[in-house]
Amino acid sequence: MAYTATLEEESKELKRLYKNLLQGTYQELSKEDKKLIRKAFDLAIDAHKDQRRKSGEPYVFHPIAVAKIVADGIGLDAISIVAALLHDVVEDTKYTLDDIEQLFGETVARIVNGLTKISHLKKDDASVQAENYRKMLLTLHDDVRVILIKIADRFHNMQTLDAMPPDKQARIASETLFIYAPLAHRLGLYTIKTELEDLGLKYTKPEVYYEIARHIRETKEEREEYIANFTAVIEESLENEGLKFEIQGRTKSIFSIRKKMLKQGVDFEEIYDKFAIRIIYEPHSKDEKHDAWKIYSIVTDHFSPNPMRLRDWMTQPKSTGYEALHTTVMGHNGKWVEVQIRSNRMHEIAEKGYAAHYRYKHGKGKETGLENWLNKLKDALENSEPDAIDFMENIKLNLYSKEIYTFTPNGDIKSLPKGATPLDFAYAVHTEIGQHCRGAKVNGKIVPLSKTLKSGDQVEIITSANQKPKPAWLDFAVTSRARSKIKNSLKEEQKKIGEEGKEILRRKLRSLKIKYNEKTINNLVRFFKLKTSLDLFYRIGNSSITNTELRKFANQQSNGVYSYLKSKIRRKKPIGSVLKDEVTEKYDLLVFGKDEESLPYTVSKCCNPIPGDQVFGFTTINEGLKLHRKDCPNAVNLRANYRYRIIQAKWIDSTQREFKVNIMVSGIDEIGIINEVTLMISNTMNVNIQRINIDTEAGYFEGHIRVSIKNISQLNKLIANIKNIEGVRKVERE
Ligand code: MN
Repeated sequence: MAYTATLEEESKELKRLYKNLLQGTYQELSKEDKKLIRKAFDLAIDAHKDQRRKSGEPYVFHPIAVAKIVADGIGLDAISIVAALLHDVVEDTKYTLDDIEQLFGETVARIVNGLTKISHLKKDDASVQAENYRKMLLTLHDDVRVILIKIADRFHNMQTLDAMPPDKQARIASETLFIYAPLAHRLGLYTIKTELEDLGLKYTKPEVYYEIARHIRETKEEREEYIANFTAVIEESLENEGLKFEIQGRTKSIFSIRKKMLKQGVDFEEIYDKFAIRIIYEPHSKDEKHDAWKIYSIVTDHFSPNPMRLRDWMTQPKSTGYEALHTTVMGHNGKWVEVQIRSNRMHEIAEKGYAAHYRYKHGKGKETGLENWLNKLKDALENSEPDAIDFMENIKLNLYSKEIYTFTPNGDIKSLPKGATPLDFAYAVHTEIGQHCRGAKVNGKIVPLSKTLKSGDQVEIITSANQKPKPAWLDFAVTSRARSKIKNSLKEEQKKIGEEGKEILRRKLRSLKIKYNEKTINNLVRFFKLKTSLDLFYRIGNSSITNTELRKFANQQSNGVYSYLKSKIRRKKPIGSVLKDEVTEKYDLLVFGKDEESLPYTVSKCCNPIPGDQVFGFTTINEGLKLHRKDCPNAVNLRANYRYRIIQAKWIDSTQREFKVNIMVSGIDEIGIINEVTLMISNTMNVNIQRINIDTEAGYFEGHIRVSIKNISQLNKLIANIKNIEGVRKVERE
């Protein structure tokens, strides 16, 4: 909807907003407080007078909305309200931090400074790592009010995210789910946390969000009827006890319904506790706990409880301060329903967090309670006590277990499926980055490309113009995007090697005095037990067919009878037919485990696997290693009960096999020499480096490098080439 207000309407609106701000504060404000807020309000209007939001509204509507959340939703003090009003002033306008300090004092200036720093983190300071980002967020500030106001700021930005372009929406929403929702949760701000999560889902997975929202809408009547029935049953009994109460039906948030659907792998209809019944009571005895149990007993007189699902958060409040009594009972038509029993004090804490907690504990005399609360929060954030660890775990997102959130060096978030590796990350950033990915640093350390990433990891991809996708990449790329790109370019690569192989073969045959023609090619294909001419060209191209082997062929060719017989058999496929997957369809070697070792094995009788089948190895006491098909009828049982005995196994094409070899390189530590060595290995020789470890001391370096090698001649060539590099003294196989 277009924004059309006139200036006059705007100034009217500002007056209304001001009144509204002062009316809704959770803390009581003194005259001085109000004066200070008025001053900040006027300064914010003046400072932002020439700015508009993307929606067309005056910019100042934003800080005012944030101040409102701070005052009412979170329940903070006048200092915080003032800082919220001014939070974007230093960042975006001519006013400086000094101005703020002079006008509003040191505390406000410090908070505004903290907020300005946070907003600078992502944009300008590319070197600040993701980890640091979080740490700074948690510990930079002496004052937790900075974080609380930042949450309010983010909350309002999420509420008005529609005006942003879609790519920004997704980024801001991911960040909200990753950082701000868990923070809000930890600070006991349940209402804000829930809304942040729902909004986060709305902009990261809109289809899911709207689908669940639709379901909730469609089942509204049914739900209301259910609640009405439930209420009707217990109302009278509660009234007979002289209790004052209110019964509400609360739908779970869209986000938490989705979390349940994912966790339990079920549809919307199958989630049984999509809503809860909430009974909020006014305690009439001194002992509000006693009243809660009385209500519990009335509820369970009418509905049978599930004893496994009784939670007494009153005796032992959650670390966030949450108090309530929860139970799940069997309601009408055989449906379980959660019942939350809270006094109005407990309810207020649940809505507002510790601000309410301390207000009740310390009475309405202000400040002391709030200060204590803030200190306690600060402790929780800084200490490595169980609570704080719990909090970090939250941040690390056990909550969103199907996805992980990783960061680029600039602090942009990339969400990836669980199990993703730096290679997936590289392809997620850009196809070209993936195609030329040579290595990766995670949180500043070089790691293998096969390393599994965790939420919060910051990943830097090292590229090289000469790098190309390798077959081994398919072993650890998990996203379909990365896998299909790798496969495509491997096919291209095989084609290219095949073309080269064809030329090499022509030359070699000439020197062996054999005619290059269709007949010879067909004979060669049969001699090497291949399927197509392209398989042959490819193997010549990548040198897995050696000169000795070609000579053997030549000797056999000179046997007239042999060649006569062979020439009788016609090949159907012409030379140069399209290369398909044939190259990898030749399964002649079975290997086990991560290191792809050949081990002695026997084939199990239950499923009789043959080369090419999907298989696994199973160790037995009497019969050694047995091979089963993955779809063997016994497989499920074996996997479930004897997981530790299972070894992964696969059929491979022995000509494509790579062996792992350790080599030691030492020499004089000159600038660039290590780089030269690794370039020689990975680019000139096109050999994969698996691991590299280099020590330098007093002008001397020693490197231990693990490479994947096709055969001994390739290894010898590699060692010779490294020896030729100036400064290298010694190269040895370890
Ligand atoms: Mn802001």
